[in-house]
Amino acid sequence: MTLSCLPSRSLRRALRNRRKDDQVTFDVRLAHAGRAVERRAQRVLVGPHARRANGLRIGALTTHRTVEVSRDPAILGGFGVLPRSARWIGHYPIRSRGTFGGSIAHADPASEWCLLAVLLGARVVLTGPGGTRAVPAAEFFQGYYSTAAAPDEMITELCFPAPAPHAVLTEFAQRQGDFAVVAAAVAADISGGVCRNGRVVLGGVGPRPAEVDAGPLAGQPATEETWRAMGEHAARQIDPPDDTHGDAGFRRRLAATLVARALAEASQLAGSAGRAGTGGGGG
Ligand SMILES: Cc1cc2nc3c(=O)[nH]c(=O)nc-3n(C[C@H](O)[C@H](O)[C@H](O)COP(=O)(O)OP(=O)(O)OC[C@H]3O[C@@H](n4cnc5c(N)ncnc54)[C@H](O)[C@@H]3O)c2cc1C
Repeated sequence: MTLSCLPSRSLRRALRNRRKDDQVTFDVRLAHAGRAVERRAQRVLVGPHARRANGLRIGALTTHRTVEVSRDPAILGGFGVLPRSARWIGHYPIRSRGTFGGSIAHADPASEWCLLAVLLGARVVLTGPGGTRAVPAAEFFQGYYSTAAAPDEMITELCFPAPAPHAVLTEFAQRQGDFAVVAAAVAADISGGVCRNGRVVLGGVGPRPAEVDAGPLAGQPATEETWRAMGEHAARQIDPPDDTHGDAGFRRRLAATLVARALAEASQLAGSAGRAGTGGGGG
């Protein structure tokens, strides 16, 4: 499939309305169209584009490594969980060649980007002959390695609508660089020592990233006990598979531990942000 659907509507109209006797002009236009498509494709497909009002857009061809080493303050401030989590993905050669869009399209239920797309309420932008549509990540992943993308659609970008400065992903893998056996991604709104609300998404516990109920976090003190209780609550909600990497019971224990650990890290992030905001005084 080509990316012919990417040029602007006016450019497409101009090409459609060309005069047949004006072949030279047409050739020139086609050449320009090619460059325009290429330039636009470059703009859309490569690189994170942080916009304060519109959140963050990540082009499908952006490599994991590009996200990992991003030092854009808008990304580090609101979406720092993305660069922080990239280190969990495979090894350096994987991260420097694998792409954000490829990872989302591959839809491994333990993939870091798939979990974070669900956690952060991202929309997967699909482009095909029929035009462009955006599908919420929670609906995009439909099962093991299967998605809502039609055979003639490509992922062109991911849109993350709102910052989540205290989001954390952590995981357990048997060897450095392996896919996670279980991964936990959390976002928590913690201030004044109290957790206002939170979200928890687990990977490696079923056919797709699994969001579990995190209602019990609301209004609880930001303590180890609260994080442990949430971990147990999360583990009770899943029905993980048995396979050569671990049985269901092992995965449940991992889920409980990783959720508690991720929430503790989120709380630390919220604490250090609070201290930074008050000149190092409170927390
Ligand atoms: C040894 C190893 C370890 C890995 N560890 C991890 C890990 O820990 N965590 C993790 O998340 N990933 C891991 N990966 C996967 C890796 O990160 C890549 O993201 C993944 O393989 C996709 O690679 P790619 O971007 O080159 O896509 P490809 O391999 O080129 O494509 C993958 C699939 O998606 C389709 N596709 C690609 N781009 C698009 C698009 N824009 N629109 C629609 N369809 C598309 C392709 O047709 C193909 O079917 C690992 C891979 C290897 C080999």
